[in-house]
Amino acid sequence: MSVFVDEAQLHVKAGNGGAGCVSFRREPFVPRGGPDGGNGAAGGAVWLVADRNVASLLGFRDHPHYAAPPGEHGRGKQANGRTGTDEVVAVPVGTVVKDRLTGQIIADLATEGHRWKAASGGRGGRGNASFLSNRTRAPDFAEQGEVGEEFWFDLELKLMADVALVGFPNAGKSTLISAVSAAKPKIAAYPFTTLEPHLGVVRIERFGTPLDPRGDFEFIMADIPGLIEGAAEGKGLGHQFLRHVERARALLVLLDLSAVDSAGLTPAEQEEILIRELGEYSPELLERPRLVIGTKLDTLDGEEEIARLLPGCPEVLVSAATGQNMRSMLMLLAPMIAQVRASTPASDTFVVHRPETEGVEVRRNDDGSWSVLGRPAARAVAVSDLTNPLALAHVRKQLDRLGVVKTLLRAGAKSGDIVRIGTFSFDIE
Ligand code: GDP
Ligand code: MG
Repeated sequence: MSVFVDEAQLHVKAGNGGAGCVSFRREPFVPRGGPDGGNGAAGGAVWLVADRNVASLLGFRDHPHYAAPPGEHGRGKQANGRTGTDEVVAVPVGTVVKDRLTGQIIADLATEGHRWKAASGGRGGRGNASFLSNRTRAPDFAEQGEVGEEFWFDLELKLMADVALVGFPNAGKSTLISAVSAAKPKIAAYPFTTLEPHLGVVRIERFGTPLDPRGDFEFIMADIPGLIEGAAEGKGLGHQFLRHVERARALLVLLDLSAVDSAGLTPAEQEEILIRELGEYSPELLERPRLVIGTKLDTLDGEEEIARLLPGCPEVLVSAATGQNMRSMLMLLAPMIAQVRASTPASDTFVVHRPETEGVEVRRNDDGSWSVLGRPAARAVAVSDLTNPLALAHVRKQLDRLGVVKTLLRAGAKSGDIVRIGTFSFDIE
């Protein structure tokens, strides 16, 4: 429905898994008791969750990095480590996640509360107690923790203007939007008009939201120039302008209080014309929630002049120049926007998940050696001591179970070829 696109980059790093522990029981009169090294725990994952109280990707420009803590290492006496807590990152509803290299869409957080695991924590390594068997009475090795996933993503968001400014030329729209904006989002695509909108992200800190009572609330304000001169003389607001207004959830109508002096229209007259224009273009526009304010309060000379403007003067009078009543205006707008957002039907865009490659893949290198790719193989060789014969026997068994050698032979590998899995290498017998 909307045409403004906001962009940001995101870096996520899930926690590494904790290492398994090598330890043996100490008992009186027994020189070396049984193995009792506990398991390392999984690292925390990084999740993205769609939160309607976040309206832009602005926050990611200052803080693009999110990491989850690692899992604890295992300890002696069969003590397992504690799992790293997950990191949850709030993104605006409608955020599209793309692979930074291929530009492919990986996930689309289209509905409120939708969660997506952006990076999985590394698995914990097993301690030596796990490797006790009839044949291996004293396993003196353990598995290392797996490295947590790490990615850079491109985030993209089609911005929906929460509130559009409506007012005659010189009513103070541009001044107001720059006074309340925390920043200007980047406008990447704006295809169907020559009117360049000015967007501002308004952020009310610690406003309180259903998910987080101390959370910030953000909304997008759009100032669309192009309201044609002479609108008051019946030339109309201009259809391009109105088409944009139609895309906003709520309207903020600005009436110029100072215009009275310069033989202009009174606030009540301005309001009447503006509302009539909106209704003639589309009656539905009048059903949008709207707040009517008077601008340039500072140009009025005290209570008497304000009283002279009444009746028909809006209740909320602000000055963008001095900041007077600007915060109260935002405090009226914010709940209005929160309410329309909540009642806007969820979009029906699809959701894509990154396919997990959990299989084993082999590749021939230029020098004639082979590489084995994929997480399971990397896991199999992640033991604490690769010079340890018991550990090597364990690795061989794991690789057999994954069918690594069979896959290699099928791909054309021959006896004597060198095979690499990460930093580990062996030759085919
Ligand atoms: P727009 O055409 O609706 O975008 O109006 P502008 O924001 O460009 O403002 C028109 C004129 O009014 C400019 O000269 C501003 O400096 C002035 N103006 C805007 N807001 C205020 C205000 O709060 N107080 C005073 N005194 N002047 C203002
Ligand atoms: Mg302007």
